[in-house]
Amino acid sequence: AAPLVVAVSTSISAKQGLLIRNRADFEGARNLDAVVFDKTGTLTKGEFGVTDIVPESGYTKDHVLELAAAIEQNSEHPIAAGIVSTAKEKGLPIGRVSEFGSISGKGIQGWVDGQKVNVVSPGYVNSQKLGFNRDVFNQLSEQGKTVVFVLVEDKLAGMIALADLVRDTAKEAVAALKAKGIHSIMLTGDNKKVADWVAAQLGIEEVYAEVLPDDKANQISKIKAKGWKVAMTGDGVNDAPALATADLGIAIGAGTDVAMETADVVLVKSNPNDVVALIDLSKKTYRKLV
Ligand code: ADP
Ligand code: MG
Repeated sequence: AAPLVVAVSTSISAKQGLLIRNRADFEGARNLDAVVFDKTGTLTKGEFGVTDIVPESGYTKDHVLELAAAIEQNSEHPIAAGIVSTAKEKGLPIGRVSEFGSISGKGIQGWVDGQKVNVVSPGYVNSQKLGFNRDVFNQLSEQGKTVVFVLVEDKLAGMIALADLVRDTAKEAVAALKAKGIHSIMLTGDNKKVADWVAAQLGIEEVYAEVLPDDKANQISKIKAKGWKVAMTGDGVNDAPALATADLGIAIGAGTDVAMETADVVLVKSNPNDVVALIDLSKKTYRKLV
């Protein structure tokens, strides 16, 4: 009878919007100790809008946004979409870029009008020992805004703050997991203050911020080393190593192809609460098996 039960659950899962790519790992979903969530695009919608632009002297707000938008046209990060759409809404001209490249987990770079332009994280700016207005930066971050830095020829041209929306369903997911005795953990490349702000909205108590893509995988290994069975939920290229390392890799359907190809299960509806549905379905399906 076993194959029949499994077949039935496959059609149930398809109806619920759960795409099961690896059946053996799906079976293990009934015994999870922790679910690790990426922040941007997973717990949040990943739909950023620009809220503040803080230019350095010699630059206007529009100029900072134009430079950033030119580079970001080539990136598939949610921050990029936010910057490009805001520049378009303002009717700003978006220049052409050559030699575009990404700096894994830290930002991007390219050449605009013969000048080298970067859009990067606070971590990158700190590592380059570039000065910036920390009071303004802290104020924006404490409001849960993600701040990126625009550099021209390795010098600061301005800061851009972006706000994202927390998914309503993420809070329900964390509460439902807690009720099952499963820990929710946040793992993000974003700044600590922003991460803490989002975690507080959702009731997540364990947060790892400013984590680079390979370190996301290392962090999963550390949690597994406690003897825990761990799921990782993410949407980005940067989440792929962690999805592969986890006992169960779960990708958000609206995310990148890389994440979906790496994951064991895809949440077609991009609803974090479907992590709970997935655990319930795994329990129901395999309880019936001897
Ligand atoms: P997350 O884990 O939140 O999805 P990432 O690892 O993708 O974050 O990115 C970490 C940080 O690197 C971002 O918060 C941002 O500061 C910077 N970054 C990454 N990609 C870009 C980009 N295309 N434009 C600007 N900043 C970026
Ligand atoms: Mg993400």
